[in-house]
Amino acid sequence: MLGGGQLGRMLAHAATRLGYRVHVFEPQVNCPAGAVAHKEVNASYEDLEALAAFARECDVVTYEFENVPAAPLKHIESLTQLRPHWSVLETTQNRSREKRWLRDHKFPHARFAEVAAGGDLAGGIREVGVPCVVKTADFGYDGKGQLKVMTEDDVPAALARFATQPVVIEQFVHFACEVSAVVARSQSAAVRVFPISENIHTNHILDFSIVPARVSPEVLAKAEKLARLIAERIDLVGVMGVEMFVTRDGDVLVNELAPRTHNSGHYTIDACMTSQFEQQVRAICGLPLGAVTLLSPVVMVNILGDAWKNGEPKWDALLAQPNVRLHLYGKADPRPGRKMGHFTVTARDANMAFEFAEKYKGRLTS
Ligand code: AMP
Repeated sequence: MLGGGQLGRMLAHAATRLGYRVHVFEPQVNCPAGAVAHKEVNASYEDLEALAAFARECDVVTYEFENVPAAPLKHIESLTQLRPHWSVLETTQNRSREKRWLRDHKFPHARFAEVAAGGDLAGGIREVGVPCVVKTADFGYDGKGQLKVMTEDDVPAALARFATQPVVIEQFVHFACEVSAVVARSQSAAVRVFPISENIHTNHILDFSIVPARVSPEVLAKAEKLARLIAERIDLVGVMGVEMFVTRDGDVLVNELAPRTHNSGHYTIDACMTSQFEQQVRAICGLPLGAVTLLSPVVMVNILGDAWKNGEPKWDALLAQPNVRLHLYGKADPRPGRKMGHFTVTARDANMAFEFAEKYKGRLTS
């Protein structure tokens, strides 16, 4: 596993349950995944020798985030099996390449323009039109490296902030809601899509995932089909998160692809026959994919470092509930916006689970 954050940690849980040994490669010491893996290697992603030594010890290598530099990974692919393939990471780790790939493969997406570093940003904004969102082409996640341009008055700030970086300018989508799919594709090309999640973001960071998504059967079918086709066209072996906007007309637009497990898929650990992490293990290790059956309506709530603002969150309030499961990632420093853990709430239906989830979230800090 390249990357030692919470996604790697939950993958390690799933892999060890199936009897595998997990090695983690992560620049920072004492990482969340290293604490539950068999071996933790701390070195830079640019350290080709360390990467090669790591790869030689592994039968299969995967990654838990898309900001691993692509060039060293190409080297790993020549030494052992890398899943998903290097080409999938290369396409999805840069917003320009990702958007172009979606356009070239005729997947629905928001209108966009690309502007090179130092290029004609004002012209790009004019071309797409206001309102729009300016996003850096590289290293963006959780709304980092992006700025909404809602009126002409916001244009100067965007010009100042993005003058020297390559960017993608996207039409602002007045979405009815956001949904996502976690799709898995096996080495023998079988595809399974987990139940579609409805996602509520606060300050660009995922706050709640609600499953089943409260959208029409037609929207569900469109979202599932898009995820399946994307996995096939991009030749995925592994799992991928597909983030989508649902417009007020019921159209589904693809926002972003993540070639790994996804925050909005954490609900699968507690509410599906197979978790997204076990599915990742199965897909990359050449096993058959597991069933994606939903066992109960569920809501997942992220716990950010902000929950520590008045001291340690009140875990007892959560743990006392019969329909809650708590997951903490073992991170020491609860900085605002940092994902420290999550909890899931199951109930008879999605609305009820969401009501419980909001109430329980409030009690954590009250
Ligand atoms: P991203 O980093 O692209 O996933 O964006 C983070 C969040 O910003 C999304 O989940 C949306 O809530 C919002 N966002 C991003 N792009 C757009 C857009 N083109 N129109 C409206 N909202 C957007």
